Amino acid sequence: MEKFDVLIIGGGITGLASAWWLARGGLSVAVWEAGERPGGKIQSTRQQGYLTERAASMVLNFRPEVSELMHEAGLEAAKTRRRAEAEAQRYLLHGQGLKALPMKLGGMIGSPLWSLRGKLRLLAEPFIFSSGRPGESVSEFITRRLGREVLDKAVEPFVAGTLAADPDQTCAAAALPRLTALEQRYGSLAAGVLVNRVLRRRTACSTEVFSFQNGMGTLVDRLAAGPGVRLCTGHAVTELRAQGEGWRVRANTPQGERSAYARQLILATPAPAAAKLLAELDPELSTMLQQIRYASVALVHLGFSRQAVAHPLNGTGFLAPKAESPVLTGNLWASTLFPERAPPGKVLLTSYLGGARAPFAADWDDARLVEETLQTLRPLLGLKADPDMVRVDRQREALPLYHGAYQRRMQSIAARLKEIPGLHLEASYREGVSVRDRLLRGHVVAKHILASQPWPESAPGRPASCAGAAEMMVG
Ligand SMILES: Cc1cc2nc3c(=O)[nH]c(=O)nc-3n(C[C@H](O)[C@H](O)[C@H](O)COP(=O)(O)OP(=O)(O)OC[C@H]3O[C@@H](n4cnc5c(N)ncnc54)[C@H](O)[C@@H]3O)c2cc1C
Repeated sequence: MEKFDVLIIGGGITGLASAWWLARGGLSVAVWEAGERPGGKIQSTRQQGYLTERAASMVLNFRPEVSELMHEAGLEAAKTRRRAEAEAQRYLLHGQGLKALPMKLGGMIGSPLWSLRGKLRLLAEPFIFSSGRPGESVSEFITRRLGREVLDKAVEPFVAGTLAADPDQTCAAAALPRLTALEQRYGSLAAGVLVNRVLRRRTACSTEVFSFQNGMGTLVDRLAAGPGVRLCTGHAVTELRAQGEGWRVRANTPQGERSAYARQLILATPAPAAAKLLAELDPELSTMLQQIRYASVALVHLGFSRQAVAHPLNGTGFLAPKAESPVLTGNLWASTLFPERAPPGKVLLTSYLGGARAPFAADWDDARLVEETLQTLRPLLGLKADPDMVRVDRQREALPLYHGAYQRRMQSIAARLKEIPGLHLEASYREGVSVRDRLLRGHVVAKHILASQPWPESAPGRPASCAGAAEMMVG
């Protein structure tokens, strides 16, 4: 039976990032991925000269560990940065038109988005001394600090558009960790922003928004081909068993059943798949994982001739509040963001439909999804012709919902894992869904594993070039 220091189940961005960091640390690492290609949800597709994404379109990074990975994996030259034009504006659907979302406090106060009462409530934020209950929802937190108007017009669309979630049910500390931390630390969001602005000049790592010239698939391919990363696709893991000081893993592959032994195991699958694999080993942990709900999302990519769209498309795109758009949560102006997304003279608009707001949308057929999208976009963007490219993608387990007693569940999962040495659960249902968070968590789990035992045979800390040849076994 083959032996590895670490076996990773699931070759999405979490599994691949963990593998990359572990292999760099000198361990023998295998990634077993059920699908035919690595990347999980992330997939870049070229169609009629347009470059579309099935999940993440960009990375918003402010973490030095992620910058280090980009640099060391040789990804800097492949990056494409957000264009200044896209950086300048973000829009909100308001009163059946698009209104620019102010980025600065002064602009917030002057914005036509808020009523006079809403503005006064915003100005009162530094003087709100109440603190929230543990496990407070996003709606409770925002209403308490900034008022109901900010929740309904700006935060609800943000939570629905970026997390596919419902703010009434979403745990504030999990979904808005930076905002809730500001309150905890400084007693007020405005005071926290001010203090951070002063300190940032000296301390913080700058924020960068980027993708890759050939799409997010570049990141997946580069990590999968990292030195020492043994990726096997078409390996659907069916069984885990504790054996000696490690784990015996069994998978179905196109060549038949395959088994391997690993000293440590990372389960980097969505929660339902992890729950299934752990059902026998630890029913309690399995039940906790089963309770994590996911939102489904449909993506409608439309390509137009530039002249067919009256709006200047001078921004990132727009987010839509539930009250104004019951199914479509947001629209990304992909070709404004990054230059290589549409052929010359064309534009690419990607819309997101469904999520917790409209869970039924992913079951609609393509024609209905496209019609709903066009009906919403036509008056807002001044569409004067039909699209010349249409593509629909569906993600059934798109994003884990940080709903309900999320924090308590995560604490219980962490406590349970302490009792099972050598088993790690790392995926988007823990510690953030963004690609930045996933890359960072890969770093954290790898560091933890490298420090956890002497690793006599493979000498952790060796440079990556000594870690063995890259192997890609495509089933
Ligand atoms: C529509 C959408 C838009 C998004 N936009 C952004 C964005 O712009 N920026 C951003 O930062 N993030 C974005 N995200 C979030 C980000 O893309 C995801 O959170 C991230 O890709 C999840 O990666 P993962 O590796 O944790 O999970 P996955 O990608 O789900 O990977 C898990 C893998 O496990 C495999 N697997 C499951 N069961 C088994 C088994 N039994 N054996 C072996 N393998 C198994 C699956 O096949 C899969 O490949 C977006 C997500 C969606 C859905």
